[in-house]
Amino acid sequence: MSETVERHEFGAEVGRLLDLVVHALYSEREIFLRELVANAADAVDRRRFESLTDAALMLPDDAKVRIVPDKAARTLTISDAGIGMSKAELTQHLGTIARSGTLAFAKSLAEAPAAEKPSLIGQFGVGFYSAFMVAERVEVTSRRAGTEEAWLWASAGSGEYTLAPASRAEAGTDIVLHMKADAEEFLEPLRLQTIIRKWADHITIPITVTKDGV
Ligand code: ADP
Ligand code: MG
Repeated sequence: MSETVERHEFGAEVGRLLDLVVHALYSEREIFLRELVANAADAVDRRRFESLTDAALMLPDDAKVRIVPDKAARTLTISDAGIGMSKAELTQHLGTIARSGTLAFAKSLAEAPAAEKPSLIGQFGVGFYSAFMVAERVEVTSRRAGTEEAWLWASAGSGEYTLAPASRAEAGTDIVLHMKADAEEFLEPLRLQTIIRKWADHITIPITVTKDGV
C-alpha cells in the first residue's frame, strides 16, 4: 500500500454491530443485496433532489444501479451514479454508527422471530454493514457529485478501515465485495435477479445485473 493510505479504527459500536449482523442473520444473507441496492437508489434520489437547486449535479441520463458479478475475480460490484461520498462522509457514514442504537438493535435481534430479523437491519440504519455477511473485504470507491476527488474506503470488517486517494471518472459510488468462499452463490446472475425481484421490487430506478464476465 502507498504511504498515503490512512488507517482508522471503527467506532467501538461498529465492531459489536458487525459481529451481530454477521452472525445473527446468517440464514438471511441475501438481504445484503437489498441493502446495498437501496443505498444506491437513495444516493441517486438524493443527487436528483440536489440537482434541482444546483444544475452542476445533474444526473446522467442512464442513472441505473449496476450489479456486476465476476466469478474469476470472485467479486460482486454494485455501482451507482448517485450523490457519492466525500472523504469526510465516508468516515462519518461508513466508520461510525449515526444512530447510537446498537444495544436496542441487539435486543431486538435477540427477541425477534427469525422471519422478522432481516427487516431490523433496515430499521436500525445499519444496512451497509450487512455486506460483511457475504464479503471478506469491502472496497468503496466514491466521488461526491460536484467535486473532482475520489476516495477508496476499504475494510475486512474487523476493527479498522483504510482511506486512500482514488480516481473515478464520474460522480457516484462503486461497492466492490470480495466474496467469502462460501458466498459464491451470489455471483450467479440468476440468483442475483431472483433476490432483486424479491426484495427490490419497489425501487423505481432501473437495476441491471450483468452476466458474468460480460
Ligand atoms: P441507512 O441507509 O439506513 O442510512 P446504511 O448503513 O445502509 O444506513 O448506510 C449508511 C450511510 O452511508 C447512508 O445513509 C449514506 O449516507 C451512506 N451511503 C451508503 N451507500 C451509499 C452510496 N451508494 N452512495 C452514497 N452514500 C451511501
Ligand atoms: Mg441503507
